[in-house]
Amino acid sequence: MSSVAFIGLGNMGAPMAKNLLAAGHEVTVFDLVPAACADLQQAGAAVADSASAAAHGKDYVISMLPAGKHVAATYLGDDGLLAQLDSTTTLLDCSTIDAATAREVGEAAAAQGIGFMDSPVSGGVAAAAAGTLAFMCGGSAETFEKARIILAAMGKNIFHAGPAGAGQVAKGCNNMLLAIHMIGTCEALEMGVRNGLDPKVLSEIMLASSGRNWSLEVYNPYPGVMETAPASNDYKPGFMVDLMVKDLGLALEIAEQSGVDNQLGKLARAIYEQHQGEGNGQRDFSSVLEQLKA
Ligand code: NAD
Repeated sequence: MSSVAFIGLGNMGAPMAKNLLAAGHEVTVFDLVPAACADLQQAGAAVADSASAAAHGKDYVISMLPAGKHVAATYLGDDGLLAQLDSTTTLLDCSTIDAATAREVGEAAAAQGIGFMDSPVSGGVAAAAAGTLAFMCGGSAETFEKARIILAAMGKNIFHAGPAGAGQVAKGCNNMLLAIHMIGTCEALEMGVRNGLDPKVLSEIMLASSGRNWSLEVYNPYPGVMETAPASNDYKPGFMVDLMVKDLGLALEIAEQSGVDNQLGKLARAIYEQHQGEGNGQRDFSSVLEQLKA
């Protein structure tokens, strides 16, 4: 079993840290919010009063923070973890952040001989609680081998996407595609329904045909078609529109930096932004179906 510092105990981080405890790892936590630490203490974790106190001497540091600026502040600079740790600690940042910051932290760590991987996840709060997240990792092969051992307590699919930053690029590609095919699925279903088709029957037809995709298969956006989907539960998330807009912003930043003109990605972002602006930020992203009814 390993010693792990876990930094950032929000909607995702808290259940992930609990799964590490359940797997028998020794976990020390830090979050800016004391109540979040107290919850983990009850579950068996030790609590530290700073990220560096949590990280000191541990086998692994795992962070699950809101954005790139929080990750940069945690790892870089005179007060950052890289200035205080050595090669005996492996660092895994599971936050969804911009690829440029992930590369910067990964390269700074490598220059010091410290193993760091950007390891963003696919799967929301339910997958974090169930320990079924998918991890997309960016860093060296050696660090990936170490990362695998610990990530296995929190997820079931663990991919090595490439060098530093590659995990964030993979996540951006995936979520942009998800954003687009969800809108396409909504458009197809709405068009069918307006022409008298039953959305359940149409879904079955498309699932057995070339329109088949993940949104149709496990996350049908039409209310009443799939009992377990957010659409059948008043679009309670699930995966919030706010987070989809954030992820599309990161994906389009990657596209711009690499000179790719992702026209559908841009259109998808405009549609989700409009939906967000109409008060739907906290609802599930499949509620974008309602944009077609407006
Ligand atoms: P959240 O806002 O619920 O949690 C973030 C936590 O980080 C908070 O508890 C906050 O107090 C803490 N924090 C912020 N700055 C800190 C610092 N400097 N030191 C210590 N703690 C600090 O967010 P979340 O939903 O848990 O998401 C975390 C990350 O995972 C984000 O990057 C998000 O994009 C990504 N993600 C979220 C989901 C989801 O469904 N919620 C799914 C996949 C990926």
